[in-house]
Amino acid sequence: MGSIEELEKYALENNVPIIQKDGLNFLIKYIKENNTKNILEVGTAIGYSAINMALVNQNIKITSIERNKEMYNLACTNVRNFNLENRINLIFGDALETEIEGTYDLIFIDAAKAQYIKFFEKYKINLAKNGAIITDNLNFHGLTKQPETIHSKNLRALVKKINNYKDFLKENKEFNTKFYEIGDGIAVSKMD
Ligand code: SAM
Repeated sequence: MGSIEELEKYALENNVPIIQKDGLNFLIKYIKENNTKNILEVGTAIGYSAINMALVNQNIKITSIERNKEMYNLACTNVRNFNLENRINLIFGDALETEIEGTYDLIFIDAAKAQYIKFFEKYKINLAKNGAIITDNLNFHGLTKQPETIHSKNLRALVKKINNYKDFLKENKEFNTKFYEIGDGIAVSKMD
C-alpha cells in the first residue's frame, strides 16, 4: 500500500479501526499549531495515523507501539513504502509492558480502550513540558452518552470503562483536559 487512499481502502475492507478523517484533521492541525516534533503513538494498526502525522513535515519523528504481529508487519511494509522508516520507529510489543525512553511533545493514545487509564498513567512520564496527551474514541460511536441502550454485556462494560476514563481525566489534578466533539470524541490533556 503506497498511497493514503490505499491504506484507507485496506482498513475499510479488512475492518481495521483507523482514526476518522475529522479526528485526523484535528491531530494534524494540533501538530502544525504547536510545532510538534516528537510523537509517541500507542496503537499503530497498519500505520495510517503515524504515516499521516509524519507527512505533516520533515521534522516530525514518531515512535509507535503495536502488539498485534500481523498489524505490526503491515505497518512496517507501509512505512517503508512511504520512505518514512527514518522518521517512524515501529515497536512490536504490548504498550503496557514496553519501556520507552525520552520525552515527546505529543502522546497519542489509540489502543485498547479498556486500558486507557493505564496507558495514560504509564506514559505521562514521557511527556515533554508543554506537551499533550491526546486520546481518541471517547464517544465510542455515541454509545458513551447512552449506555442504557446497549444490549451486549461486554460492550456495556467497555463503554463503562471509557466513561471511567473520562471521569479520571475530568478529576485529574495534574492535567487539564479539554474534550472535543470531533471525530469519535477527542481529549487533549496538558499538565497544569
Ligand atoms: N492509530 C491507528 C490509526 O488511526 O491508524 C489505529 C489504531 S487501532 C484503533 C488500535 C490498535 O492498538 C490495534 O491495532 C491494536 O492491536 C493495538 N493495541 C491494542 N492494545 C494494545 C497494547 N496494549 N499495546 C500495543 N498495541 C495495542
